[in-house]
Amino acid sequence: MGIVVQKYGGSSLADAASIKRVARRITEAKKAGNDVVVAVSAMGDSTDELLELAEGVSPLPPARELDMLLTAGERISMALVAMAISDLGFTARSFTGSQAGVITDSVHGKAKIIDVTPGRIRDAIADGHIVIVAGFQGVSQDTKEITTLGRGGTDTTAVALAAALGADVCEIYTDVDGVFTADPRIVRSARKLDRVSYEEMLELAACGAKILHLRCVEYARRYTIPIHVRSSFSHKEGTWVMDPAEGDTMEQAIIAGIAHDRSEAKITVVGVPDKVGYAARIFEALAAAQINLDMIVQNISAAATSLTDISFTLPRTDGATAMKALDALKDEIGLASLMYDDKIGKISLIGAGMRSHPGISAKFFSAIAAAGVNIEMISTSEIRISVVVDEAQVDAAVAAAHTAFDLDADEGEAVVYGGSGR
Ligand code: ADP
Ligand code: ASP
Ligand code: MG
Repeated sequence: MGIVVQKYGGSSLADAASIKRVARRITEAKKAGNDVVVAVSAMGDSTDELLELAEGVSPLPPARELDMLLTAGERISMALVAMAISDLGFTARSFTGSQAGVITDSVHGKAKIIDVTPGRIRDAIADGHIVIVAGFQGVSQDTKEITTLGRGGTDTTAVALAAALGADVCEIYTDVDGVFTADPRIVRSARKLDRVSYEEMLELAACGAKILHLRCVEYARRYTIPIHVRSSFSHKEGTWVMDPAEGDTMEQAIIAGIAHDRSEAKITVVGVPDKVGYAARIFEALAAAQINLDMIVQNISAAATSLTDISFTLPRTDGATAMKALDALKDEIGLASLMYDDKIGKISLIGAGMRSHPGISAKFFSAIAAAGVNIEMISTSEIRISVVVDEAQVDAAVAAAHTAFDLDADEGEAVVYGGSGR
């Protein structure tokens, strides 16, 4: 008998009726003769609600306690799903991440899975149960504390379970029919991809396409687990995230899709002395504050000669910490001023075909210009071009680039079945 690993996101588990619907779907896989292991997310937007609650109690809650709080969301789902399954005449056992053997490092809020020891899952399967695992959480090997894997982390739980249990595929059930050429919430003419390579999916996820958690794609690639992203609201075939089989001659599209990200902010350090070592000092201070940077641009300062301005982007959630770290440097290295802008958005065009096709940047930038959108920053990798624009213009720029690269679907609009898009 094969093992099927499924994941249901919060939008598929929004209320009691959805939980019953998901339970029916899970039992279908069991009836078909499979052993079934399911990773579940917290119901609806409950993780956001728990975060708001925490904020109301304390502006900067201790990371350990925040993880304790957030993991409760997935525990609620797992127990309710198990109850709904037993109501259908099957037996289910729910397990927290720690009980399921999801071992992580000790970084609260963005822990990495380092091992999965699924002894209890295997025993429950052997006893004929359907297994439900609370996603997004684990237990630290060193500190023995409960950790969370970062927003969207249940995708990663599912793939890690699939790898540990030797499943042939990991099914990710969500509120859209698969991975599209752009977020169907903002581009209704987006086209569903039948297949996307790990490499392209990694870039899409890294650039803000929250359909899959970045680490989940990294994990799947490392263990060669195909991911089937599909809707829990329909029975349509979704998107397969996997590498093409050797000798597969199917023609590859030049562009896989466009991702956007509204979670970053831009800081400009104005009037940095244009001398050896100053940029290093700035970025050392940011590294010491544990800040992950994305794009970096340096140019001649408008302030005066022999000065330069350095701009970079970073997660908005790190904005205050970064400004504090830079402020401490201000007098020491004589910076003119600091500017903080969190009204930005990043748009990324992604496709492995870029490697061998010239003119892609020109086409991308002219589509954005034609939409009347100004580009503030640019960065590229081998298979990606990203630009920073005004946050209010993100939707227009994505739609313009989508059409310019002929990504619009031939017919029909993409369906968004549920979720708030939060
Ligand atoms: P879940 O609750 O199932 O984990 P998420 O909200 O995390 O769902 O992810 C699904 C959402 O991802 C979709 O509703 C869609 O708005 C968004 N999304 C962003 N980019 C894409 C894309 N390229 N293809 C499909 N969905 C995307
Ligand atoms: N509940 C968590 C979140 O909202 C994890 C997940 O949904 O994957 O980020
Ligand atoms: Mg998700």
